[in-house]
Amino acid sequence: MKITMIGTGYVGLVTGTCFAETGNDVTCVDIIEAKIEKLCRGESPIYEPGLEEMIRRNVSLGRLHFTTDLASTVPGSDMAFIAVGTPSSDDGRADLTALFKAVESLAEVLDRKTIVVIKSTVPVGTNAKALSILEENAGHACDLASNPEFLKEGAAIDDFMKPDRVVVGVRRPEVADVLHDLYRPFLRTEHPFISMSPESAEMTKYVANAMLASKISFINEMANVCEKVGADVNDVRRGIGHDARIGFAFLFPGVGYGGSCFPKDVRALYVTAIDAGAESHMLTVIDEVNNRQKTVLTDKLESELGSSLKGKRIAIWGLAFKPRTDDIREAPALVMIDRLLKLGADVHVHDPEAMENVRQQYGDRLTYADAKYGPYSTLEKADALMICTEWKEYQHPDFALMRNLMKQPLIFDGRNLYEPSRVADAGFKYYSIGRATTGG
Ligand code: NAD
Repeated sequence: MKITMIGTGYVGLVTGTCFAETGNDVTCVDIIEAKIEKLCRGESPIYEPGLEEMIRRNVSLGRLHFTTDLASTVPGSDMAFIAVGTPSSDDGRADLTALFKAVESLAEVLDRKTIVVIKSTVPVGTNAKALSILEENAGHACDLASNPEFLKEGAAIDDFMKPDRVVVGVRRPEVADVLHDLYRPFLRTEHPFISMSPESAEMTKYVANAMLASKISFINEMANVCEKVGADVNDVRRGIGHDARIGFAFLFPGVGYGGSCFPKDVRALYVTAIDAGAESHMLTVIDEVNNRQKTVLTDKLESELGSSLKGKRIAIWGLAFKPRTDDIREAPALVMIDRLLKLGADVHVHDPEAMENVRQQYGDRLTYADAKYGPYSTLEKADALMICTEWKEYQHPDFALMRNLMKQPLIFDGRNLYEPSRVADAGFKYYSIGRATTGG
């Protein structure tokens, strides 16, 4: 199949590359020339494990192409996917400017009844609105399907290649048949292909993300209660997770969820509910609990070091909103950095992949870890270490070396990476989430 993919972000690039991997002829289009230039050189503009190798392989086999020129690729395409960003507006609504712009540009160059598919996460009713724009501008009837994406950054290729399910929203069963055929190589293990109306498909994506976000906010709130009553949230998590009705997924306490999806999607679904005249108590609370959770680690640090951090050096390990990505959108680490800078701290940071993105935002207001010495280079004369992302390389650090480098033996672990008694034995005062503070 000849496919055009509009938008080469975390979703568009992975989707386009995976479609090429199964033998389709895919052209990815973006409006950012620098991105396309990089991709044409075989370099991925984002960090996603395994992606760059897959891009290179498919480019060299002549199945994957990159351009900024939509008009050069759409004519002759069997399908065109739209995977542009839909960020939050100030009022919480999804900002659909890029999406509708992409639809208009596409309509200008459609030369026949190509199947158009919205992969971006969009509120209910967007497909219908986009269809009328498409048909009006193209001057003929069009098929516009919705195909929400459920991949996780950091495991995106695996998720795309082996999805738990594929959901499509269509108006005609024939369109679902074409999409089913396209996805068949990814569904060989009998995972379902679920066809429904565009409205239900749009809603499915938001409900899935709100459900996952609610699990995180729930366990975070329980962690805070555990701390107050002398329980250990990790034991509680183990105690409930074996219940098949509950499970373990998304029940790790921490410093809140971030990223380009959960925060904006929970807010957008809340607005959808309110606009529709439906009540929505849970969605407000999920978001509120999460915003509050992003401050708990700095609260603990302030209670230990005082609220003026002038002259204090604070190290932060982990800046990306989660491991195995360089994405820092709405990352909890950024909330902490802002507060630490406001309180006058000298902030030294490390992340295996996200430092460049943070540097673009904060410039020389932060000190960045030395590439050669890695995370330890942030610890010299540090008054405290804060851990915000659970990268694997932080799991077994050299506590003796850390103790020697740091001015004060203080660790604030926002991801519960370590066994509290072990860190205390290594000479540290150790704060974590939902567990008793040890050492000191
Ligand atoms: P992104 O911001 O990483 O990428 C979007 C890309 O679209 C950018 O490169 C941008 O330049 C490009 N673009 C914008 N307008 C364009 C146009 N008119 N023509 C061509 N390119 C254009 O976004 P993302 O993280 O890939 O997310 C895309 C959509 O998928 C969003 O709606 C998001 O909510 C959803 N989603 C994201 C994830 C995720 O993990 N990131 C997972 C599932 C769904």
